[in-house]
Amino acid sequence: MQYSEIMIRYGELSTKHKNRMRFINKLRNNISDVLSIYPQVKVTADRDRAHAYLNGADYTAVVESLKQVFGIQNFSPVYKVEKSVEVLKSAVQEIMKEIYKEGMTFKLTSKRSDHNFELDSRELNQTLGGAVFEAIPNVQAQMKNPDINLQVEIREEAAYLSYETFRGAGGLPVGSSGKGMLMLSGGIDSPVAGYLALKRGVDIEAVHFASPPYTSPGALKKAHDLTRKLTKFGGNIQFIEVPFTEIQEEIKAKAPEAYLMTLTRRFMMRITDRIREVRNGLVIINGESLGQVASQTLESMQTINAVTSTPIIRPVVTMDKLEIIDIAQEIDTFEISIQPFEDCCTIFAPDRPKTNPKIENAEQYEKRMDVEGLVERAVAGIMITKITPQAEKDAVDELIDNLL
Ligand code: ATP
Ligand code: MG
Repeated sequence: MQYSEIMIRYGELSTKHKNRMRFINKLRNNISDVLSIYPQVKVTADRDRAHAYLNGADYTAVVESLKQVFGIQNFSPVYKVEKSVEVLKSAVQEIMKEIYKEGMTFKLTSKRSDHNFELDSRELNQTLGGAVFEAIPNVQAQMKNPDINLQVEIREEAAYLSYETFRGAGGLPVGSSGKGMLMLSGGIDSPVAGYLALKRGVDIEAVHFASPPYTSPGALKKAHDLTRKLTKFGGNIQFIEVPFTEIQEEIKAKAPEAYLMTLTRRFMMRITDRIREVRNGLVIINGESLGQVASQTLESMQTINAVTSTPIIRPVVTMDKLEIIDIAQEIDTFEISIQPFEDCCTIFAPDRPKTNPKIENAEQYEKRMDVEGLVERAVAGIMITKITPQAEKDAVDELIDNLL
């Protein structure tokens, strides 16, 4: 038998009545975006559940995609059949014959939301259980932890059967918490920070600073590729490339070596904040991890942070590098992050950056530059590309083709 749809149960949704539908609509759109790589699949959502209608699509692939989408508690592929006792009997027999292996135990759980159906749930259990014994005489029924738990649900429009439930990714639907700007380098930490922000429902836009010709097209591609990886969790992501060469050259020319890093970061922060403002973001997200490098001491964070009062989320701030790497591997960004393309910060990085930069000093050095003009020109020069789950699928397909 072929699965007709996947029934999706919601995760931690807002309990507030008014917000519930907004959350559900976000989740439905996210599921649609992520599953858009399977053109036959259609997604709908109501108050209690969402449904992905397979229309012939390979359910195992759809299952793998759904496992990643934030805001889903769990989901079950189901068979939709006509609401008749005879049809149900032969359906449970057919399914059991397909999945039963010697020695397995089973249980039948029936539920009836259509109370006009001719059998109630107890009678359904008996009748359909009987049909199972008829088809597989040796099968053992077991109420506690059976190998097969065959669920039957009689609803208004049809009857549904399922026996597999997959755990969802949990978290909140991407976008249900609002929008934030992710400062995305090509490193290990910021994609993980982005993933964790997505998990709590933040719709991210990736802001990447590039300094050609000092940074290579490879570095830019890396940031693109990392963004693509993040589309699995909630759908499309806008990638915003910021031209940063002029600013880096200006800092290099005007400021002492020890403050290059600090000033670079302050400019990045200002520009990200400006972009956030025009694009209606609420927050900035970055991959800073306390004490990891000179720019990430508390003194540094304070001096860098001083250019804005916008809240900054640092999802990996208290994590050890190894913990961050574990997540990077899990979400498949690690291999991309370790590709050897120099980031704009690495190229202009002093050998010994100041670990306790002072706000007053940073401000002093910035007086030597036209900060406002530099920021404005950078913001005016941004390039925005929409990155989709389809782009990720194409990249993976290409990789597979090359291997074969
Ligand atoms: P990552 O692994 O994310 O690159 P890192 O350990 O290399 O982090 P830094 O280079 O000090 O740390 O950067 C700290 C944070 O600043 C990054 O996590 C990222 O959020 C932001 N950042 C650094 N470089 C860039 C860039 N080129 N474009 C956008 N954001 C950047
Ligand atoms: Mg970095």
